[in-house]
Amino acid sequence: MALLQNIKALGERAISLLQASFRDERQTLPLAGRLQIKLHEHDVYGERAIAIAQGAIACFVLALHLIAQTGDGVRFANPWVVLALVALATNSLLRLRLAKGPAARLPERALAVLNVLDAAIFLVLIWNYQFAYGHPAGGVLKAPSSSLLFALVAMRALRFDPRPVLTVGVTAVAGWALLTALAVAHDGPGAITRSYADYLASHRVLLGAEVERLTALTALIACLAVATHKARRLLSMAAHADDYAESLRAAQRHLEEANEARRKFEATVAELDRHKADLSEQIKRFDVALENMSQGLAMYDANQRLLVCNKKFAQLYRLPPELIQPGVTLRQIVAYRIANGIYAGASPEEYMSERTAPVVAASDTVHELSDGRAIAIARRPMAGGGWVTTHEDITERRRAEARIAHMARHDVLTDLPNRACLAERLEQAVACAKRGELVAIHVFDLDRFKCVNDTLGHLAGDKLLKCVGERLRAVVRETDSVARIGGDEFAIVQVALKGPADASVMAERVIETIGTPFDIDGHQASVGASVGIAIGPIDGDTSEQLMRNADLALYRAKSDGRGTYRFFEAAMDAQMRARRAMEADLRKGLTNGEFVLHYQPLVDLNTNEITGCEALIRWFHPERGLVSPAEFVPLAEENGFIVALGEWVIRQACLTAAGWPAPLKVSVNLSPAQFRNTQLASLIVSALGAAGLAPERLELEITESVLLANSEANLATLTQLRTLGVKIALDDFGSGYSSLAYLQKFPFDRIKIDRCFVRDIGASASARNIVRAMAAMANGLGMATTAEGVETEEQRAAVLSEGCSEMQGYLISRALPAPEIERLFLRRAGPANSPSAATGKPATAA
Ligand code: C2E
Ligand code: CA
Ligand code: CA
Repeated sequence: MALLQNIKALGERAISLLQASFRDERQTLPLAGRLQIKLHEHDVYGERAIAIAQGAIACFVLALHLIAQTGDGVRFANPWVVLALVALATNSLLRLRLAKGPAARLPERALAVLNVLDAAIFLVLIWNYQFAYGHPAGGVLKAPSSSLLFALVAMRALRFDPRPVLTVGVTAVAGWALLTALAVAHDGPGAITRSYADYLASHRVLLGAEVERLTALTALIACLAVATHKARRLLSMAAHADDYAESLRAAQRHLEEANEARRKFEATVAELDRHKADLSEQIKRFDVALENMSQGLAMYDANQRLLVCNKKFAQLYRLPPELIQPGVTLRQIVAYRIANGIYAGASPEEYMSERTAPVVAASDTVHELSDGRAIAIARRPMAGGGWVTTHEDITERRRAEARIAHMARHDVLTDLPNRACLAERLEQAVACAKRGELVAIHVFDLDRFKCVNDTLGHLAGDKLLKCVGERLRAVVRETDSVARIGGDEFAIVQVALKGPADASVMAERVIETIGTPFDIDGHQASVGASVGIAIGPIDGDTSEQLMRNADLALYRAKSDGRGTYRFFEAAMDAQMRARRAMEADLRKGLTNGEFVLHYQPLVDLNTNEITGCEALIRWFHPERGLVSPAEFVPLAEENGFIVALGEWVIRQACLTAAGWPAPLKVSVNLSPAQFRNTQLASLIVSALGAAGLAPERLELEITESVLLANSEANLATLTQLRTLGVKIALDDFGSGYSSLAYLQKFPFDRIKIDRCFVRDIGASASARNIVRAMAAMANGLGMATTAEGVETEEQRAAVLSEGCSEMQGYLISRALPAPEIERLFLRRAGPANSPSAATGKPATAA
């Protein structure tokens, strides 16, 4: 029992497994595959149906024959028929075996053989009817059998395959044709036309034949019905296949669309990823930028809560870390700052309400914090109600700007206002002066400042200028302004004057305070001041006018002998214009030959013989007549024209002297300005060469001022000239202020004692003493001495007795044109002690 159950369970399991796999397979297969399977099933089932139908027909017909055996003498069931029908039934069984199941492939060749055999068996049956019953055309039984043959062919349609139909059909048709041909051959053409009636031997046979024919018809109908039904099913499946294909195409389209969408989606995702990467990169950069900003930055939301801020912001307001976290309120931050004294404005409350007011428009403000810093705050509203602020500590920048602004208007050394600043103040002072009030502008420069610079150095010079500035500040009232307007030039704007006398008081104070010696690093330096004053609005109502007029007054003060002050006078302006005109005339004069040299004899005091002449320049101006060198030489020195003029003098003097008997010499005056020409030495050499004059016959007269300015270079030039043999004389000795020092500096050949000592020699004992001392000193140093400006016999005697070696002056002669000199003095080969010369009344001297 148990064994049986086991086998049953096993079988069930196997079946279910098989079913499952079959079902699964079918379900998973595409429709085309399923159609294929269906077709194969139809093949198998068709084959089986053919086998069963054929077998059934064979059995039925066999039974029919056996029943009909007991007929009316007709041998219905002869052995051939039985054999054929048994063979057909056997064939059908064989066919059934070959069409084993739906999974197996059909053995088409074997089946084809069976088909041929089936048709052949029927042909055997028909042949049997045809000949066994003695009727040439097969008798009455041939017809139903042939119907069965048709059914046999039609049955093959169950296979949905033309091959079995054709196999059976061709075999049947060929067999049939053969049998007919045999019958005709055997019985003649009448065989197929003979009447059936003769052969209707038995009703039973007839009935059998009818049954056979009905059977064949039924089989035919059944086969056709089944075949068409199956065909319909397959076709409907195929139609489904179309739908399926359509839906497949639709699905394909959808799939493609979906794919496209997916691609787009993926691209979008990739794009998003890139954006994300970019964004994070940007955020990084933003963070770096934020932290490296020189400004503090803070961003607030609409609720005044901090969104973000940078370190600089925290540093600026010294905020602790907890106050720079996102979410902290502005109020908290401001409160903390107020608590720590870092706020601006009148009161903490005001500051709080100012800072926490909603930001609706962009604003730029500067907050002067209570700790002294200045913070520039720029607030910009953002979309959504928040805002962003930047904070920049501009304290240093402001200071720097203030410094620059100060520097632009002040002198660096003394920190006094500069010229531009002074001009402004002067302008203001003039504009704001009340009725009846005057404004004075004092312009002055330091006398002998250059000397301090040269002797003590530039640093000392700078210190002196600073001290001057300090002293000046002390001299003026608060409302007045002191300015430095040039190297050693200063100016004072004096306001609210009652009258010009107030300006005089100020100028005197300035002269006095600057005249007081300065102590510069232990050295005493004394300078002086010359002051020019212009009064506004009398002398002008613009700053330029006033400054220019004060300058003119200063010029006058200086030319009037320094250490003094002068008010501007309208005449000064005219004089200045005249000066300008003369400057132009000077240049023209040289080209037009308006200059001549006059010569004044120099006489040896001991021998009374003329030793040479001093060349003195004269200018015959076409309109103004004779102009004194005292008038134009300083001007030429000032504007540099002296260089050209001096060259002409040197060349002219050398040429003239070359015509004189040797060893008569010529003395030429040199201005300090001429030493600025570095070619001076070569010019002199060239002049000597051109004239053919021995260097020893040329004497150059210089004043101390040559040694004051640029002394090293000038000394070098002098030494060079002296080496050539040219004589060097120190002119106007004693009129300067530190003459003695210069005697040590350079080995002069001669000193010329200034006219002022000679003039006073008779009246003043001190003048005489000075002359004596100077002569003694010069003698001691091996230098000759010339007394200048000897006008009287007494003076001559005095200078002679005090030890001078040479004299010059009106006593002998004034400076005269060269021909006169030659006529009066040189024709007699030198002696100058002629009575007429000695009385100082030469014929032409007038
Ligand atoms: P300096 O070199 O001292 O010339 C002597 C001046 O004294 C001359 O005046 C002369 O005429 C004048 N003089 C001579 N004897 C007497 C006298 O007995 N009594 C009086 N009261 N005066 C006398 P001058 O010619 O007017 O020259 C004035 C100055 O012009 C000169 O003074 C000299 O420094 C300058 N100078 C003249 N010619 C030249 C020149 O060619 N070149 C340069 N660089 N300077 C010159
Ligand atoms: Ca001279
Ligand atoms: Ca002189």
